Amino acid sequence: MSSPEPPIASVRAWIEDARRIVILTGAGISTESGIPDFRGPQGVWTKDPQAEKLSNIHYYVADPEIRRKSWRARLAHPAWTARPNAGHAAIVELERRGKLHALITQNIDGLHQKAGNSPERVIEVHGTVHTVVCLSCGWKGPMQATLDRVRSGESDPPCGHCGGILKSDTISFGQALAPAVIDRAMQCAAEADLLLSIGTSLQVYPIAGAVPAAKHAGARVVIVNAEPTPFDGIADAVLRDSIGETLPRIVGMSAVPLA
Ligand code: NAD
Repeated sequence: MSSPEPPIASVRAWIEDARRIVILTGAGISTESGIPDFRGPQGVWTKDPQAEKLSNIHYYVADPEIRRKSWRARLAHPAWTARPNAGHAAIVELERRGKLHALITQNIDGLHQKAGNSPERVIEVHGTVHTVVCLSCGWKGPMQATLDRVRSGESDPPCGHCGGILKSDTISFGQALAPAVIDRAMQCAAEADLLLSIGTSLQVYPIAGAVPAAKHAGARVVIVNAEPTPFDGIADAVLRDSIGETLPRIVGMSAVPLA
């Protein structure tokens, strides 16, 4: 059962009181920047369940056609042109006030950094689409240079060093997470006095566990998400309105500067 929804004013007061805010974001914070989520009503997988194969490492490694399709999708990825929205700007404001302990994101789009959050405060638990990695030798390089090769006609460009399979430096299903990154995120969650979970269905583990971990360590928990999540019942507040409208209100911003 969900907690009763207190007024925005209560959450705003909690933010004012807090000294170590930890934020966990998911794809929902970027939908208002034009990047669809996976599981929301307009989500990529909701509309096309077959698209999940593009996010599974086993299909990616085994099937050259899946890789060609992935490279075509990367060419057209909305992250290249997307602009941060008012939700991202509100989180930048929390950092400016010295309240942001850590920003844990499942997103791969780089919009938190583009909005102005310091890269050292952003913990990208699922990697970034702005980098490519070789699955054989581990070479990494900028995504745009590899996309130039795709534009020039290489439909599945191999690694320039070892000939291995290249992929965006993101964690696909079936791929191992980086333990040090996850440990840092969980440690930060346990140090929070307020955890805001924003735009995530909280279905992807282990990072969804940051929410109960923060709660058990004594933090207040606020969930901002249009749809129910498995942790609504332990939250001190659940806010269902649009993230781009809700975050500036709970942060107490009058005018929201857009990047
Ligand atoms: P998800 O798709 O599982 O859930 C997103 C949630 O956000 C949904 O419950 C949806 O109702 C809610 N939502 C969407 N737009 C909203 C809005 N404007 N206001 C309020 N709520 C809104 O996302 P997830 O939990 O992040 O898991 C998806 C995985 O896919 C992540 O691991 C992430 O790495 C990846 N992903 C990333 C991006 C990105 O980088 N922008 C986009 C799609 C998927």
